[in-house]
Formats: sequence, C-alpha cells, structure tokens
Amino acid sequence: ASSDKQTSPKPPPSPSPLRNSKFCPSNMRILISGGAGFIGSHLVDKLMENEKNEVIVADNYFTGSKENLKKWIGHPRFELIRHDVTEPLLIEVDRIYHLACPASPIFYKYNPVKTIKTNVIGTLNMLGLAKRVGARILLTSTSEVYGDPLIHPQPESYWGNVNPIGVRSCYDEGKRVAETLMFDYHRQHGIEIRIARIFNTYGPRMNIDDGRVVSNFIAQALRGEALTVQKPGTQTRSFCYVSDMVDGLMRLMEGDDTGPINIGNPGEFTMVELAETVKELINPSIEIKMVENTPDDPRQRKPDITKAKEVLGWEPKVKLREGLPLMEEDFRLRLGVPKE
Ligand code: NAD
Ligand code: UDP
Ligand code: UDP
Repeated sequence: ASSDKQTSPKPPPSPSPLRNSKFCPSNMRILISGGAGFIGSHLVDKLMENEKNEVIVADNYFTGSKENLKKWIGHPRFELIRHDVTEPLLIEVDRIYHLACPASPIFYKYNPVKTIKTNVIGTLNMLGLAKRVGARILLTSTSEVYGDPLIHPQPESYWGNVNPIGVRSCYDEGKRVAETLMFDYHRQHGIEIRIARIFNTYGPRMNIDDGRVVSNFIAQALRGEALTVQKPGTQTRSFCYVSDMVDGLMRLMEGDDTGPINIGNPGEFTMVELAETVKELINPSIEIKMVENTPDDPRQRKPDITKAKEVLGWEPKVKLREGLPLMEEDFRLRLGVPKE
C-alpha cells in the first residue's frame, strides 16, 4: 500500500521492520512525541515495564520537562530527543504515539499559531515518518473536537459543534484537521492509524500552574487560597485518572480498530461539585469563589464509552474520589506542603 517513491532510501519492510527481525522477534521500538508531558511520561513508564520495548521520546519541552522522565534518563532502552514536531524527524520505529501538543487552554492560547502548526505540520510529519518506515501511529485527539456539544453524552459518531474562529479553535480545529490527516494517510497510503478522543484527564505530574481545573483546585486548596469556580459553575466535565487513560491508549494501539474511540471516565461533575469535593477531601476550611469565565467554554461534556467497552474491553477503574488523593500526594511533595 506504500506509495514511497525513489526518494526513500529504505523502503518500508511492512509492517514492522524490528519485529520481523530474526534477532529480536517481538521487540518494538516506540516513539512518543510529547513524551515529556503529563500523559506522555506516564505512558513511557508503562511501556518501559516491558523489557522488549525500546522507547524514544521526542519533545520540545514547551509544557513538558525532563524531570518527568528522570528515572529513565541513561537507561539502555530509553532515548530522549529535544525535537519540535513541526520539523521533520528521521528515525526508524514500529509504533508512534503522537501526543505532542499543549493541552491546557492557557498554554495553547499563549501562542495559537504555534499550536495549530503543531497540530497540522506536526501531525503531517509524524504521518510522513509512519509512511516511510511502515509504523503504526496513534493520535491523541480530544473531546474538544465535539466543541460545545449539542448531543449529550457524546458518541464518536457526533460531528461536533465547534467555533472555527474562536480563541480555542487553534486547539480544537487543529485536532480536527489532525484527525482528517490521519484518515487521509490511511486511505491514500495504507498507513495503520489509531485515534483516541481523550476526555479531561488528571493525575500526578500535571503542571501545577497550568490553569486546568483539577490542578488549579488542588494547588489552591494546598496553598490555602480560595477555589476559583468559573461562572456559571454548572458546566460539567468528566475526569479520567491517568493510569486508566494510559491503559486505554495502549489497548487502542495494539487492537484492530482505527477509532476514533472516546477514552474518558463517564462520571460527570459540575465545577461546583468538583470544588466541593476537593474542599471536603483536601482542605475543609477553604472558601469557594465564583470568577469570570473565558469565551467558548463548553457547557457540558461526558463521554459515551460504549465503543471503548466493546472494541477495547476497556473502562475506567479509578473513581474521582480515589484519584484526587493520589494527585494531592504528588502536589504536596512538589509544593512542599506536608500533610497535617
Ligand atoms: P502536556 O502539555 O503535559 O504534554 C504535551 C507535551 O507535548 C509536552 O511535553 C510538550 O512539551 C510537548 N510539545 C508541545 N508542542 C510540541 C512540539 N511542537 N514539538 C514537540 N513537543 C511538543 O499535555 P498532556 O495533558 O500530557 O496531553 C498530551 C496529549 O493528550 C495532547 O495531544 C493533548 O492534546 C491530548 N489531550 C489531553 C487531555 C488532558 O486532559 N490532559 C485531554 C484531551 C486531549
Ligand atoms: N517526514 C518526516 N520523517 C520521515 C518522513 C517524512 O518528518 O521519516 C516529513 C516530511 O518532511 C514531510 C511530511 O513528513 O514534510 C510528510 O511526508 P510525506 O512523505 O507524506 O509527504 P511529502 O514529503 O511527499 O510532501
Ligand atoms: N475552570 C474553573 N476554575 C478554574 C479553571 C477552570 O471553574 O480555575 C472550569 C472551566 O471554566 C471549564 C472547566 O473548569 O468549564 C474545565 O476547564 P479546563 O481548562 O480544566 O479544561 P477544558 O475546558 O479544556 O475541558
């Protein structure tokens, strides 16, 4: 199915050069773009547990950090490359988890042109790489492709309600184009693709000051500041703990379905409910205050995970009340606020 022309020095011995090698029959070389970030670094931890995997991270450290990967630096099966995915990358791999992209609204709005370049040119480069070496590629798309959804909960068949010219568009329209590119490379060049639509995910190693709601509330509760609920506070989100997310992504990669598949926790909470839960669990004396919201904030969001259950045999295990204390522990260490 490859249409690589004379330009390619190494025609792809499809589907997986390393796996087919007689020297290492089931070894996998796995690239994780954005692997120094929150979800990426947890994915690295899990993939490194398998001694047959070699893991390469390519990251420009815009929102990620080497700190997240420090336990693997120097490990013989691990490599870390400072690389911006908007530039071409020439390496040989069997699998590509393509996560590179800022995920928090304050970071992706900070340089919207760079965000859309990362989504479009970055995904194009990862697909060009996948095509050249015959690798399978997974894109971490987002529930934001549903925009401010008119259907609730959101199944994969829903096309979404997205503002093409708003301040969030660099991210959500960027991911929509990235999905389109994935399917066009699949149809036109026979690339093996997988698309995950990730819903809000939380856990240890989130950027403390990245402005996302769970990290904000936990940091505020630990610093003794009021929890800032953005108006009206009745808007909802569904929060998935990061270990469940990583499990879902790995099942999707090694399964047979291209997706898109929603991966998220269907437990739905209003932002006021989330604030009350954080207050109760972490700091009952804290105040909750209402503050102004930002434009185009989706009013409700909850994944329909029927497909993930059927196709991947996956559903989340960690409830919000179990996950929040695990994140609290990590934030206490990093903020230097011991319990009691
Ligand atoms: P994150 O910001 O912690 O990680 C993103 C990583 O990508 C960072 O390490 C960053 O430095 C890197 N990066 C950004 N631009 C890059 C570029 N041009 N070249 C190379 N590296 C670059 O975010 P995360 O929460 O771990 O998100 C990972 C992926 O999951 C993203 O694609 C995001 O869109 C998607 N996602 C996350 C959530 C969530 O709730 N966390 C929800 C939906 C989708
Ligand atoms: N690319 C890359 N690594 C590779 C192969 C390609 O980064 O190993 C980039 C390449 O520079 C191009 C993009 O991926 O910008 C798309 O590649 P493709 O071969 O599909 O398109 P073309 O190069 O023919 O435009
Ligand atoms: N939010 C909030 N207080 C904060 C940060 C966010 O109430 O300090 C709200 C925000 O208005 C949105 C929800 O939390 O309705 C989720 O926002 P986040 O930026 O975490 O993720 P996303 O909007 O991308 O789902």
